[in-house]
Parts: sequence; C-alpha cells; structure tokens
Amino acid sequence: MDLSRFPRRRYTGFATPLEFLPNFSRALAAGCPGGQGPRIWIKRDDMLGLFPGGNKTRKLEFLVADALAQGADTLVTCGAPQSNHCRITLAAAVKEGLKCRFVIEERVPNSYREDASGNHFMFRLLGVEAITVVPGGSNMAAEMQKVADAVARAGRKAYIIPGGGSNALGGLGYVACAQELQQQLFEQGVTLDRLVVGSGSSGTHGGLVAGFLGNNIRIPIVGIGVSRDPADQAPLVLKEAQATLDLLGVDLKVKPEHVTCVGGYWQPKYSVPNARMAEAVQMLARTEGIPLDPVYTGKIMAGLIGLARTGELRAGENVLFLHTGGLPSLHAYEADVLGGTELPA
Ligand SMILES: *Cc1c(COP(=O)(O)O)cnc(C)c1O
Repeated sequence: MDLSRFPRRRYTGFATPLEFLPNFSRALAAGCPGGQGPRIWIKRDDMLGLFPGGNKTRKLEFLVADALAQGADTLVTCGAPQSNHCRITLAAAVKEGLKCRFVIEERVPNSYREDASGNHFMFRLLGVEAITVVPGGSNMAAEMQKVADAVARAGRKAYIIPGGGSNALGGLGYVACAQELQQQLFEQGVTLDRLVVGSGSSGTHGGLVAGFLGNNIRIPIVGIGVSRDPADQAPLVLKEAQATLDLLGVDLKVKPEHVTCVGGYWQPKYSVPNARMAEAVQMLARTEGIPLDPVYTGKIMAGLIGLARTGELRAGENVLFLHTGGLPSLHAYEADVLGGTELPA
C-alpha cells in the first residue's frame, strides 16, 4: 500500500517499541485456566511524539499535513473534557504555528471544570485559543462548523478535524502503523496470533483493519469497545476501514468477519471508572512499570485480562496489546485508580 502520495508531517522520529511483557504475562497466567495464560506483548504507541503522545499523533500526521496544504491557520476539533485527541491536536498546532479551538462535549453532565487537572490542565498550558462547551448528544459537526464560521469572520481560515481524528485521512495513520508493525515483526522474528486494540471513534481499529487487509497481514484484530457494544461499534469500524481503503485506491471490500469487537468492559459509561479498569491499571504498573489511563487503555487492558481468564485468548498464544496512550487523564482520576480493587502488595 503506497502512502507516499499523501502529504505527511512527522511527529515521531522512530518506530514505537515492540516488547514482550514477561512479568505481566506471569501475573496474568495465575488467574487463567490451569494457571497457563497467553504471552503478552506491547507496542508502545504511548511513546509517540507530541508529548505525551498517543494514537492521535499518527492520525494527525496526515490530517495536519492536509490542513497546511489547504492554507489553514486554525485547527478546530472536538472531544470530551479529558480528551487526549484535543490535547494532541493542540500540541501539533503549537508545533506548526497554528491556532487551535475546541468544542468540548459534556457527555457526563457537569464533568467539565475550568480548574480540572489532567488533559484540561494541558489545554491551558499549551495555550488553547478558545473552548466552547456543549451538552452531551449535541451535533458536534454543526458546533464545530459554527466555530469555523467565527474564525472565518475574523479573516482567518479554519480546518475542521472530526472527533478522534477518525476519517479516511486519519485512518492512514494506522495503515502506517500496520506497515511499521509488519517490519518490526519481521526484524525481531516475532509471530503474533492476535492483536488487541481499543475501539472508540474507530480510526485506530478501522485503520489497522485496512492496513492488515491491504498488506495481507493475517493476524486477527480484537477491538475492545470503550463506549459502545459490538452491534453499534462494528459497523463504525467497518465503515472507517472501507473509507481508508477507498482513499488509498485499494480494490478490497471489508467484510463483517474482518471486524471483531468486544463489549461490556466500558460499562457503566464512557470515561466512567470501573473496578476491572482499576485492577488492570494497577497490574501493568506493578508488574512492568508502565502506566495505563482510566478512560481508554485501562478498560482495554481489562478486556484483554478478561478474555485471557475465560480462555478466549488461549494459553501460549502471542497477543499484542497496542498501548494507545492517554497518560495525562490518569492524574484527573487518581482516587478511582487507587481506591478501586487493591491488588495484594
Ligand atoms: C482516542 C483514544 C483511543 C480510541 O481510539 P479511536 O481511534 O478513537 O477508536 C484509545 N486510547 C486512547 C488513549 C485514546 O486517546
């Protein structure tokens, strides 16, 4: 698949590390059938550029390049009050000398606080130009268009980036990741049986599906929903994967069997903590020294742990966990992460 005809900015100067997690795999096995579990690997997309980086960094390499090509001077995007996507978009804007405005959707009523820590602190630190807060369920495309119109009235030019950076162009970031991973597996002599990834606005999961299909990588992908159960999530991922392949001019049809989603772990609600998330965050931190976040990767890892304990991820198989980032929001949820289920010391 030829990505080279798309303009791209580079925000990470290296391939993110692909590593085996021996201590975590051992701790996980203790709770698996017969005391035997899968071998867990990690790809550190939490180490991508635009500090602290995450999966949005890869999508923005293509989206911001497009904004610059169109002569925009202001990026407009949207997200939840602790949005990693908004933070990383703002960091990219700063680096490129652009302004940046957000529309923040209060999906949990009264969750927006002027003085919040975590990503919200980073918004202020990095110098966001304006934030518009709207109630949950608002039409975000329409709200962002209003902001873009206001920018235009001031004689400037806005570029609207959809929530999570998930459109066909953003999906290219995870086609690039699929190609990077393929090269790493070859160089390190690693054979994977499965990849576990989060599935939210779906650019990451969908981009990987497109990249795996287009590069003939036959590793099954399991998407753990962070805000929807499979009946609602899988069609979004399929649509994103198809749009990405179409943009690349690859003549392939994404079929429902190419998209596997797992539900339940995100409950009770997007971004609201649960005990399995707290256990997962503590377990990886205390076995490998790697932090996860409470909104996304903690719940995604809880899904991996759950699938291993029920035997759906089989003993001895090599499973890759894609760490998509999100560190700053950990600081906005300290009590939830340490106050939940405490592991034995
Ligand atoms: C946005 C995000 C996700 C979900 O990725 P999508 O491409 O929106 O599906 C997962 N993890 C983290 C840390 C994120 O910020």
